[in-house]
Amino acid sequence: MNCFTTAWGAFELARFPEDPRELLRAWDASDEYLLRHLAEECPDAAAGAVTVLGDRWGALSTALAGRAGTLTAVTDSYLSSRAVAANLARNGLDPALVDVRSTQDPPPDRIDLLLVRVPKSLALLEDQLHRLAPAVHPGAVVVGTGMVTEIHTSTLQLFERILGPTRTSLAVRKARLIHTTPSGNPADPAAPANPWPLRYRLPDGIGELSGRQVTNQAGVFCADRLDIGTRFFLQHLPEPEPEPEPEPEPEPGPASPAPRRIVDLGCGNGIVGTAAALRDPGAELLFVDESFQAVASAEETFRANLGPDARAEFLVGDALADVPDASADLVLLNPPFHSHQATTDAVARRMFTGARRVLRPGGELRVVGNRHLGYHVTLRRVFGNCRTVAGSPKFVVLSAVRR
Ligand code: SAM
Repeated sequence: MNCFTTAWGAFELARFPEDPRELLRAWDASDEYLLRHLAEECPDAAAGAVTVLGDRWGALSTALAGRAGTLTAVTDSYLSSRAVAANLARNGLDPALVDVRSTQDPPPDRIDLLLVRVPKSLALLEDQLHRLAPAVHPGAVVVGTGMVTEIHTSTLQLFERILGPTRTSLAVRKARLIHTTPSGNPADPAAPANPWPLRYRLPDGIGELSGRQVTNQAGVFCADRLDIGTRFFLQHLPEPEPEPEPEPEPEPGPASPAPRRIVDLGCGNGIVGTAAALRDPGAELLFVDESFQAVASAEETFRANLGPDARAEFLVGDALADVPDASADLVLLNPPFHSHQATTDAVARRMFTGARRVLRPGGELRVVGNRHLGYHVTLRRVFGNCRTVAGSPKFVVLSAVRR
């Protein structure tokens, strides 16, 4: 935990889930720059209806809680939404001061001050600016912030096209601000409408998924094409369990065995779990992701291909934290690998240990990963075993069994 000192007060902040070994802070220079600018240049704007889009670990929301007329935090990340709540509590602030909404929830009706922590995904920014734009009136103040490496010409073009004339500030400690003057909705009547979500048909040559429809909400992993690692994984999913022989005559007795329970962990658009369900129609699926956009995509992908009555649950959460012990027969996982390396390793480890806990004895975790990530070492440590199912120069598919 670290102390975040701002013109709005000093706050103890931590990422979520809190890890005492975590060295990375819960804020960066772009959060500091934005809060300093607000205090010096437009303190009154913060007294109205404030919306913060994409607050990573709650630094902006915590600093402005109780200062704003109303404060809404819009996020695609379950971990971020938990971080906002935990950081408010940590600083003795009432959680009701911040209305935390997911990117799938209805946006607020009115926005006087829009603060945007530029997300890593340009698509997510595009989608969310489109969704928020109707609430941003021409007198509103819009300030974006990010590290210089996160703000590109294409980022500024989105603000300009969707909200109105846009300029950037000088860089300070490698952070930059974005200033937009809202010009009413839409800023450019000739501009294209929100292109998200993106629905398309998968290519041929991928087994039961060939030609199937997939839905991608903005910001999901590999939203516009099939990822090559995912494609490799689809070719090496476990064979479905054989259907039990039908009983010659139904006899009264113990109930039939429970359906096989398969978890698509870090489901993204849900194609891995959908492929497993198509191969194993008797199975019950659980799709889990920490991204609200991902879980919404997975639900639509699954329903479009398996129908409205097929058995599945859709859960937004941190890895398997909310899944009961010994409740699954198979966990399928293509772990996240894009964020800070240290954080990403920690997430993959959390997913492996979670999988061991939720698998029934004899249950399997099947993982695809870049060869160089060396997941086999961690899997062997967590499960005591690990088998290589398939390999290519770039990827490996690994299997670990709960003994
Ligand atoms: N399964 C999809 C596929 O193979 O195309 C997506 C895999 S993508 C490499 C990893 C996914 O893990 C992303 O959708 C990401 O949002 C999700 N993720 C990252 N951190 C997570 C966490 N702590 N808990 C659950 N899901 C997480």
